[in-house]
Amino acid sequence: MTPIKINSMAASASPSEMECSCPVCCDIFIDPVVLMCGHSFCKTCLREWWRQSGLQTCPVCKQTFPLALPPRNLALRNLSDALRLQKTQRMKADDMSLMLVLVTCVN
Ligand SMILES: [Zn+2]
Ligand SMILES: [Zn+2]
Repeated sequence: MTPIKINSMAASASPSEMECSCPVCCDIFIDPVVLMCGHSFCKTCLREWWRQSGLQTCPVCKQTFPLALPPRNLALRNLSDALRLQKTQRMKADDMSLMLVLVTCVN
C-alpha cells in the first residue's frame, strides 16, 4: 500500500472501486484469489461459481483451471480492505454532513 494509491482513491473513488470489484458479486473483494488468466474473485464467490457450474472455469473468460483453489491475491486484498474501510469512513462522513444539515435546519 503506497500513499499515492490512497490519494488517488480519495480523489476519485469509482475507478479504484471498479478495479477492486468482484465480477461475480459486483462488490469490493473479500479475501480475493487470482486465477492464472489474471482475473480475480472473492474466494467464496469463485468457490460458489465452481460448485454451481461443476467446472473449474473463470467466470469472466471461461478458461478451465485444474487447481483446487487459486492462490490468494494479497496485494488486491490489501487494496480492497483499504477501500472498504475508506468506503465505511466516507459513509460515516456523509452521516456527519447530514447531521450538520439537520442541525442547521433546526436553527
Ligand atoms: Zn465476489
Ligand atoms: Zn479469466
